[in-house]
Amino acid sequence: TTDSSTSTDDLPESSGSSKLPAQIARETARRRTFGIISHPDAGKTTLTEKLLLFSGAIQMAGTVKARKSARHATSDWMEIEKQRGISVASSVMQFEFREHVINLLDTPGHQDFSEDTYRVLTAVDSALMVIDAAKGVETQTIKLLDVCRMRHTPIVTFMNKMDRETRDPLELLDEVESVLKIQCAPVTWPIGMGKNFRGVYHLLRDEVMLFAAGSERADQEFEIIKGIDNPRLQEMFPLEMDQLRMEVELVHGASHPFDLEQFLAGVQTPVFFGSAINNFGVREILSALVDWAPAPKGRDATVRVVEPTEPKFSGFVFKIQANMDPAHRDRIAFLRVCSGRFERGMKIKHLRLGREVKISSVVTFMASSREQVEEAYAGDIIGLPNHGNMQIGDSFSEGELLTFTGIPFFAPELFRVVRIRNPLKIKQLHKGLQQLGEEGAVQVFKPVLGSDLILGAVGVLQFEVVASRLMNEYGVDAIFETASISSARWVSSDDKKALADFENQLGHNVAHDAAGNLAYLATSSVNLRLTEERWPKLTFHATREHA
Ligand code: GDP
Repeated sequence: TTDSSTSTDDLPESSGSSKLPAQIARETARRRTFGIISHPDAGKTTLTEKLLLFSGAIQMAGTVKARKSARHATSDWMEIEKQRGISVASSVMQFEFREHVINLLDTPGHQDFSEDTYRVLTAVDSALMVIDAAKGVETQTIKLLDVCRMRHTPIVTFMNKMDRETRDPLELLDEVESVLKIQCAPVTWPIGMGKNFRGVYHLLRDEVMLFAAGSERADQEFEIIKGIDNPRLQEMFPLEMDQLRMEVELVHGASHPFDLEQFLAGVQTPVFFGSAINNFGVREILSALVDWAPAPKGRDATVRVVEPTEPKFSGFVFKIQANMDPAHRDRIAFLRVCSGRFERGMKIKHLRLGREVKISSVVTFMASSREQVEEAYAGDIIGLPNHGNMQIGDSFSEGELLTFTGIPFFAPELFRVVRIRNPLKIKQLHKGLQQLGEEGAVQVFKPVLGSDLILGAVGVLQFEVVASRLMNEYGVDAIFETASISSARWVSSDDKKALADFENQLGHNVAHDAAGNLAYLATSSVNLRLTEERWPKLTFHATREHA
């Protein structure tokens, strides 16, 4: 372990007599909490593994990969349980790098893409965007970046797979700027690509890092040559260097220089090129996260902004996950610490229920295993055992009435009509859906007219999970049929009469969600647009905050 007395000289000192405020300030300042946004197959798993390798959290490549391949199995009940269990274990990874505590929150992709993926992004302070340089900006990345934009989350960009034939780097930057509406500030620039990938030129440091293929080791050093006009480079790569100088000139002229403030405001993203599988360019990203990405910041808690360095503990639940073991029906509530220090055994207040709870068993998430947590600070994630009374969006404190905002529900994009085989089970069905809805597993809509119940989700696996859990936990054999609905919008208005008219006239497509909010279920994008035009006094929202 390291000698902490030497590493903390530049961090704030306590002003009071107690050492605690200084310790909280120090611990908060060295935390970085981020998630990866990417489209499936861009390289998130590979990169995660390399990040852990650098930190020394894992010794060998292959650990994260093995977990992932276990995820690609058919989705019968046990498989789903296993998948979810696996994602509990790898859903938060905490490791240290250069005296910093890094919390990497997993953003489930592939078939387990769900609303959780979105919500995780409300609990991070920055994000790493991974783009497959051969493919450019893909759909899932666009959706996830939209969520980041809502909160002005700072984004670091990694253009991956430069060891393959990729698209033209300038064109890639152009695409990011025009599709994702974020300025690009290249920090490194690739020299060649595919078989002719020679390395990257660091625009800020004026040095070239030479590419060498394939290493699974963390301590691999890539050769660095100073100065773009270094004769050695000219000798080694006569053709490529001419090309590089031309491109660098173009880049300097056409793109934005890196600006820390713009990055922190979420307006600009520093861009790095590399190859995750070859471990190339990975250390640079980790350094960017440590050097540039923000430590935990103040969070809006309705009555006031809560600063991370405040001495008293507070936090909110952003995700709830059922236990992998079907014999134990307990769930884990994922809580992001927003201020103060959490200690095991401490009493905290569950503010929605106004109830004090003693938290004696808490799990934290290390890269290698789930461990018991002793203490946690702002930015850290702790797992609270939950017997069904915690909900997504719930706030906790040492007593002060705070309600953290910014943990939204997202408009579902997939819909199913629920039918049951045994009508006598209707009560259990309603109870089950109510609870699963509160847990955030799925969204439940009850149209004003008719007796159908509509389920909404953003990933298909959500429906499978709900069907299995209805069967196993509530004894309800439900059938889901496709619904002719293409999108949902929450509706609000100051004009009560307009709202009532809307409900009366469009009752089959106007519904209440599990929390009683009014929503419009559109049959097509054209239908949605026309409805919005016809009801100018109403506002249609694609997200809604937790009550
Ligand atoms: P995820 O779906 O985003 O988690 O992507 P993975 O990390 O599983 O990567 C998808 C595929 O791309 C795998 O076959 C990886 O081996 C491959 N891959 C990842 N990074 C690189 C890279 O830098 N170069 C090449 N050539 N392949 C890569």
